[in-house]
Amino acid sequence: MTAGTVVVGAGLAAAHTISTLRGHGYDAPITLIGEEPELPYERPALSKAYLQGKGGELYVHDAGWYADHDVQLRIGSRAVAIERTARRLVLDPGGLVQYEHLVVATGARPRRLAIPGAQLPEVHTLRTRADSDRLRKVLTRDERLVIIGAGWIGLEVAAAARAAGCSVTVLEYSPLPLQRVLGDRLARYFLDLHLGNGVDLRTGVTVRAIERSGRALTVLVDADRIDADAVVMAVGVEPNADLVADLATDRGTGGIAVDEHLRTADPHIFAAGDVAAAHNTALGRRLRVEHWDNAIRQGTLAASTIAGAGGEYDWHPYFFTDQYDLGMEYVGHGDPGDRVVIRGSLVSGEFIAFWLAGDRMTAAMNVNTWDVNADLRRLVGRDIPVGRLTDPHIPLGEL
Ligand SMILES: Cc1cc2nc3c(=O)[nH]c(=O)nc-3n(C[C@H](O)[C@H](O)[C@H](O)COP(=O)(O)OP(=O)(O)OC[C@H]3O[C@@H](n4cnc5c(N)ncnc54)[C@H](O)[C@@H]3O)c2cc1C
Repeated sequence: MTAGTVVVGAGLAAAHTISTLRGHGYDAPITLIGEEPELPYERPALSKAYLQGKGGELYVHDAGWYADHDVQLRIGSRAVAIERTARRLVLDPGGLVQYEHLVVATGARPRRLAIPGAQLPEVHTLRTRADSDRLRKVLTRDERLVIIGAGWIGLEVAAAARAAGCSVTVLEYSPLPLQRVLGDRLARYFLDLHLGNGVDLRTGVTVRAIERSGRALTVLVDADRIDADAVVMAVGVEPNADLVADLATDRGTGGIAVDEHLRTADPHIFAAGDVAAAHNTALGRRLRVEHWDNAIRQGTLAASTIAGAGGEYDWHPYFFTDQYDLGMEYVGHGDPGDRVVIRGSLVSGEFIAFWLAGDRMTAAMNVNTWDVNADLRRLVGRDIPVGRLTDPHIPLGEL
């Protein structure tokens, strides 16, 4: 009997790898190994509704599902090494697990700035349900919160903290928040959104240290000192790629380098989700994407490759965010220097933004405008004259 498939990292990509394998009729053993004391769960709510104390189920499948689908669970175990010749995984605490196919879906971990005070207990990062539970306790005390980093997670936490009544300062090194993703015009839109909701969002600043002062903290930023009860460091993530560091690290992103079928140079080992730097055939280059949709699709693709069902990494990246009363979806991979055109009005808060390189659409973002993302996904990568894009009388489906 084959040793079957071992999935290491019990997150979103892992859950979808397993359900797709069983969906394809794969009947060999499946083992799931995860270091968190949790079954696979969804993370997006951790910086949004869940952080605001609004319940909602996070688990991808309940415990009974794994039993029903004959999945052996090793939850609370960390994989520490791969013995590739013997095709075994070494676990902590204790144990060896044999595999025929190994899917590495270990996600990413938050970075911490290398500044004095970064390790103080009141300095939070946000990746796990436990992190969100800890941070929620801070928010319910109406505290003064300083958030370092105005990326998606930093800004979502800012919105949740304002909803909880905290006073919030966000400190960002770049001249505008989200500038490297959205470019100047839409970055300014997000800046105004947060300023309008009472966030003290300071850009172009450098945080130098965090000091304890009595029971509170002081954040040293350039020549200023900002008092805070807690700090959130939201300065990006590092892929958990150490397990296969000898095999396939992508130099640009630090992710595990895989082909368009998510296979590493070792034909028995695959990577999926936030940890994978995979060759994207729609864009003709390698990408590492840290988004929900990608983890689901890559989990599904890794399983399809193992089950011999085909498929390749040929889709455009997609992500979403919710902040205050703004909800948006973005599809594509625009360059911040691309030209931006708008259908609808920024003032009304309901619009679609298109990023263009020449006439070719590189990305599109629908803001408070719904049921259009499938149309936008179809348009990305195509040449469309600007006049047609911005004309609200031409339905998207007819472009
Ligand atoms: C707070 C937050 C909000 C987000 N919001 C959005 C959003 O609004 N929109 C969006 O598109 N995306 C969002 N994301 C991103 C999305 O959640 C991730 O892209 C997705 O969870 C990645 O899934 P994954 O399976 O690759 O990794 P993960 O979900 O990180 O799972 C990996 C698991 O592997 C475990 N692991 C790591 N190393 C080992 C090891 N050696 N042995 C055993 N287990 C190990 C980790 O502990 C973890 O449990 C958000 C993420 C966070 C943290």
